Amino acid sequence: MKLVLATSNKGKVREIKALCEDYEVIPYGDLIEEFEIVEDGDTFKENALIKARAVFKALDDEDVIVMADDSGISVDILDGEPGIYSARYAGVDADDKDNLYKLIDAIKEKGVNSSPAHYTAAIALVTKDSEFCVHGWMYGNAQSSACGDGGFGYDPMFIPLGFDKTLGELDDEIKRKLSHRSKALSLAKIILKTI
Ligand code: IMP
Repeated sequence: MKLVLATSNKGKVREIKALCEDYEVIPYGDLIEEFEIVEDGDTFKENALIKARAVFKALDDEDVIVMADDSGISVDILDGEPGIYSARYAGVDADDKDNLYKLIDAIKEKGVNSSPAHYTAAIALVTKDSEFCVHGWMYGNAQSSACGDGGFGYDPMFIPLGFDKTLGELDDEIKRKLSHRSKALSLAKIILKTI
């Protein structure tokens, strides 16, 4: 059965493909024209389900499993911001770099060099007769500077617990072992075996 990803985020697609080697993982944009999905849920879970349901409906193929990832970073000194708004923190048309530097500036404005923070990933699975959602988290510190160009999004400013380098500087393999996405995907894979 095809596992169709309800995302066009290249960083997510790369990581999910690397973590789901046993499946035929296809970004939905390879099957149909990409379209705007209004993510108006109040939680990562709601937004992951909104995306997975929208793509399942648009594909109009009962034989697929659609997987969606809704994720983001929550910074303690900013009362959990940007959270579910991570992708549009610097505005609706913002790219990863705009968001990264807006978050760096917001931490600096608090007069600190870093703050405890965590990433959350909600992974939703939608099939013709079932819906599931699982979560994973990665804890660490968000620093007020960017180092390295590995990973994507906020990775150049995030130092995972137990390390002294950012995810931008660390090997992709280390992120694959630690990440919110890999933890959620290991739960999703248990569900996939039962579908
Ligand atoms: P979504 O596509 O609405 O789920 O937004 C996810 C956003 O959260 C991304 O655009 C990134 O800004 C951020 N994000 C989620 N996961 C990661 C990650 O693993 N590394 C860096 N940034 C991430």
